[in-house]
Formats: sequence, structure tokens, C-alpha cells
Amino acid sequence: MKQFAIIGLGNFGHYLGTRLYEKGHEVLAIDKNPDKVQEIKDSVSQAIVADATNRKTMQSVGIDQMDAAVVCIGSVLGDSILATLNLKELGVERIYAKAMTEIHGRILLKVGATEILFPEKDLAFSLAERMHNPNLLDYLPFIEGYSIIELAPPKTFIGKALHELDLINRYGVQVVAIKEIIPDRLNLIPTARFILKDSDVLILLGPDKSLDKLREEVS
Ligand code: ADP
Repeated sequence: MKQFAIIGLGNFGHYLGTRLYEKGHEVLAIDKNPDKVQEIKDSVSQAIVADATNRKTMQSVGIDQMDAAVVCIGSVLGDSILATLNLKELGVERIYAKAMTEIHGRILLKVGATEILFPEKDLAFSLAERMHNPNLLDYLPFIEGYSIIELAPPKTFIGKALHELDLINRYGVQVVAIKEIIPDRLNLIPTARFILKDSDVLILLGPDKSLDKLREEVS
């Protein structure tokens, strides 16, 4: 499990932090507003009142130990930029930062963010994508403890037949479909003889733990 810091506990930060914690990660939630910290404290590993623009404070909470940090300060431009810069200078490797405008996003990239999130734009684009090209995953019922994921095959899978990979016996996950780009089609319940191409995407069903294990081993 990973360690994540969520900075700024507005709607976005709150939902993100509690969801990551539900998924079993260690989550450190930070906000300068004590009410926001109070609201989340029972739903994450640790919640602290702190100003993310203060570099010493960020250092003292061990921010550099995190696998990733997310700056969810949207509207206060200066604070969002300074908080991102602090994370970069303190050596946090993966820094996600929420931006309100394109220019805000460009500044955040310049001061060290590794990925910019435009919540409304990202959500609108992903909805447009789903409406344009309905995904099989949206039609399947949700079963507690099980998931269906898409996985781009790692290099070691390319050119191999599904029976050689034997994912069901090695990991306990079933290949339910293969999305092929060339030709553009969805191959439902592929046979064991199916040979994987570089451009294929595996659609796998299995217990969350098995899927996580497979994802970790091939990443
Ligand atoms: P949202 O749109 O997700 O609600 P906001 O920008 O309104 O985002 O709020 C983000 C949160 O970030 C607020 O709870 C605010 O208290 C917090 N915040 C703003 N500046 C700082 C800072 N310098 N350090 C820590 N938290 C901050």
C-alpha cells in the first residue's frame, strides 16, 4: 500500500483522500482550515491543520516520504503555486496539482507538478468519451471485492498466447475480453489460442487483491 498526502480539503481533496483511504492506502490530509481537518479526520490515516505554503511545516510532517502528493487548492492561486513549489523542492516524486485555468496549469507544471488536474474539463472529457464510445465496463454489475480492469499488456506478454500466460492459474484472474485497435473491435471471451499484440488491451476480471498483484508485477 502507498502513502499519499492530500493538501487542501475542499470537495475534491476530501473525496480523493477518503477514497484512497478506503482502498487501503495511508493518507495524510492537510488543510489550514481546522473545520475541514475535523470533517475528514475519522476517514483518513492522519489529518493535520497546516499551511502548505510553509516549507518548514511541510518538511516536519514528512511530506518527502510520500509516494505522491496532490495539491487540491484550487481557488487561491498563490497558495496553490507555493504549495506545489514546496513539494518539488522537498523532493516529492509525484506531484498532482489541481488547476482552475490553463495558465494556472502551465505555471504549476513550471514549478514542479508532474501532472495537472482540471477537474471539470477532465470529467467532461471522460463523460464525452463514454457517451461517444460506451464502455463494456459500465454495463457490468459491481461485485464487492471484485473488479474489472483494463491492462495494457507488458512487453513480456506480447507475442504470447493466452494459454501460455495462464493468468487464471498464475494470478486467479480471467481474461474476459481483449480490446483490439487493429482491427478496431472488442473480442469478447477470447480463446486460449489468442496471441497478444502490442496494441491490444486486456480486460480482466478477478478479486481486487489478485488484480493488484498482477498490476504490480507487470508495472
Ligand atoms: P474545492 O473547489 O475542491 O472546494 P477550494 O479551492 O475551494 O477547492 O478549497 C481548497 C481547500 O484548500 C480549502 O479547504 C482551503 O482551506 C485549503 N487551502 C487553501 N490554501 C491552503 C494552504 N495554504 N494550506 C493548506 N490548505 C489550504
